[in-house]
Amino acid sequence: CGIVGYLGHRNVVEVLISGLSRLEYRGYDSAGISVMQNDEIVSVKAQGRLKNLEAKVEGRHLDAHLGIGHTRWATHGAPSDVNSHPHNSNDGKISVVHNGIIENYMELKEMLQEKGYTFLSDTDTEVIPNLLHLNYEGDLLEAVMKTVKQLKGSYALGVICTEEPQKIVATRKDSPLVVGLGEGEYFIASDVPAILNYTREIIYLNDGEFAVLEGPALQLFSAEGLSVERPTTTITWNA
Ligand code: GLU
Repeated sequence: CGIVGYLGHRNVVEVLISGLSRLEYRGYDSAGISVMQNDEIVSVKAQGRLKNLEAKVEGRHLDAHLGIGHTRWATHGAPSDVNSHPHNSNDGKISVVHNGIIENYMELKEMLQEKGYTFLSDTDTEVIPNLLHLNYEGDLLEAVMKTVKQLKGSYALGVICTEEPQKIVATRKDSPLVVGLGEGEYFIASDVPAILNYTREIIYLNDGEFAVLEGPALQLFSAEGLSVERPTTTITWNA
């Protein structure tokens, strides 16, 4: 239902929780975050209100500066801690938040199971991190481009990977996603209000486009993989 992602100088947990709380009005049944802590992915997920997630996060002493967060409105698989996003590849090296519905997830799941992948959740989403793992050959953007070609349905995605720990890759089809630019910091969000406390400089991703947020740079690519230049839009309204 809601997506937030961040990389920059701030404590990522604070940015993710604050952003997700600004998307609460959309409704949700569970929430979760994945952050890059010492080049490893730490995921914390909780059914119910955001305060359940906050309670779980407290005491974990997370000190990270890159991560993705999600509020879920279940379409496939009952609301539960396990079905909450983010969903990770079996080896824990890739983590994904997803809004939307993967219509062909059953056939992808069977294909992946035949290759030895196992599934913890009942969601349609969990095929994505495992498919990314299968397609990963050292370049996360390439893996995401290959993976979305195999997906039928709607998606906004935020993806992180321990092999490229300074990077967030995002893409969308029939589900909204924006990129926010701050001073040496970057955001993704399913809706502008999530990040309006931090920046008013927004780029609206078009259907099929990809964004790569990395260190002090942002790159956009078309569905065909060509570099795209787009000025930011300055948001003048208040949420
Ligand atoms: N279809 C996914 C699920 O049920 C994502 C739902 C959403 O957009 O929150 O987990």
